[in-house]
Amino acid sequence: MKVRTGFGYDVHRLAAGEELWLGGVLVPHSKGAVGHSDADVLIHVICDALLGSLNLRDIGFHFPDTDPAYKGIDSKKLLTEVMVLVREKGWEIGNIDTTVCLQQPKVNPHIPAMKQSLAAVMGIPEDDISIKATTTEKLGFVGREDGISAYASVLVTRD
Ligand code: MG
Repeated sequence: MKVRTGFGYDVHRLAAGEELWLGGVLVPHSKGAVGHSDADVLIHVICDALLGSLNLRDIGFHFPDTDPAYKGIDSKKLLTEVMVLVREKGWEIGNIDTTVCLQQPKVNPHIPAMKQSLAAVMGIPEDDISIKATTTEKLGFVGREDGISAYASVLVTRD
């Protein structure tokens, strides 16, 4: 069996009047993430980690933010397309581990719904998706509530 790993990192600015999508779940908050798509930072890092694991460039390469087709798009659709690329090449996900960095609101109560949403989109068991959350102790752009960031690592396998 062959195995490969991938890593993803992403940042989005936070602003009033925007929606805060995380892992395909709408999180109620006074601020949301700004982006060309729905700005779901958690899905974006998973896409980037998967693309990276197979040396397939990055999310901006496949879904350019200059393309009106992706304006406001549900990031679950981007992840669905990335999974097609992964499976076309004969790979399957071993596991995914992620961390979301956000000062407010608390991410933890939404993690079960996010895992359920991501598992359904990727067609893998919830047990293979880990979502962790941290504040940055009020330090930096995350701590000032100016932005949200996330990290993901993935393991993919092929028989
Ligand atoms: Mg992004």
